[in-house]
Amino acid sequence: MAVALVTGGSRGIGLGISRRLVADGFDVAILATRPEPEAVAELRDLAGRADRVRYVQGSVADLADHARLLDDAVAAWGRLDLLVNNAGVAPSPRADLLEAGPESFDRVLGVNLRGPYFLTQAFARRVIELRGPWTGWPDRPVATIINLSSISATAVSIDRGDYCLSKAGVAMATQLWAARLAPEGIVVHEIRPGVIATDMTAAAQAKYDALIDRGMAPVNRWGRPADVAAAVSLLAAGTTPYSTGEVFHVDGGLHIPQL
Ligand code: NAP
Repeated sequence: MAVALVTGGSRGIGLGISRRLVADGFDVAILATRPEPEAVAELRDLAGRADRVRYVQGSVADLADHARLLDDAVAAWGRLDLLVNNAGVAPSPRADLLEAGPESFDRVLGVNLRGPYFLTQAFARRVIELRGPWTGWPDRPVATIINLSSISATAVSIDRGDYCLSKAGVAMATQLWAARLAPEGIVVHEIRPGVIATDMTAAAQAKYDALIDRGMAPVNRWGRPADVAAAVSLLAAGTTPYSTGEVFHVDGGLHIPQL
């Protein structure tokens, strides 16, 4: 069975991704900071076997937790096929560029950019060890890495500059790792969501409701975690081995410039 690691796979978009990957037949290991939540039991039920879902309590911002996540999955299943760098945080509270402080900057960049950047490095090293010597271009990728960025990688929000910077960084990290890891047989893609209904956006629900009332996007509704999970499922299927570094928008067309 193929093995997927999903950071922040316990709530919101990440939980949608975990559900979809379990249904697609992946064994799934989740990294998140809270004690094991109820959702993990639900995923084990969905999987039909408790040993198909593992939960590691830790932070993607802590490089020691990366090693724990990888060691745990390799010890349990002996392989690694997919990393979904999903975990992310919003600035709390949102603050104008002229007011926002370095604490929020360091926290947001630490979780959203530095963490996934080094988890990608650790994951790739482990995949290369498990893969053994290079034997030429495979019909399917040796492994796939999917980074969750955001429409904020390109759209400015002047009340959360740190978040926008972190997601622009994720977009560049995707290109960097796609170029470096292609010769190892590993492909790297970016999923760029728009406005998805989760705990993260609950704080700004009234703002997004009003934007949707005014016709925010061509597919003019809130996105759902399952919408993002469907894109992960496509990119994780291993059926497009000559593509890497792709940006897949899941935003109802919000990124399309219109006059
Ligand atoms: P969410 O509802 O706040 O869920 C975040 C998930 O990440 C939770 O499972 C949380 O679990 C985990 N998490 C938070 N900090 C962590 C850390 N330091 N280490 C490991 N796990 C951590 O957020 P979401 O809306 O699902 O967002 C998921 C991703 O999509 C994020 O990268 C976000 O930036 C991106 N995104 C979201 C939207 C949107 O509209 N919602 C749009 C574009 C992009 P614990 O609480 O247990 O740690």
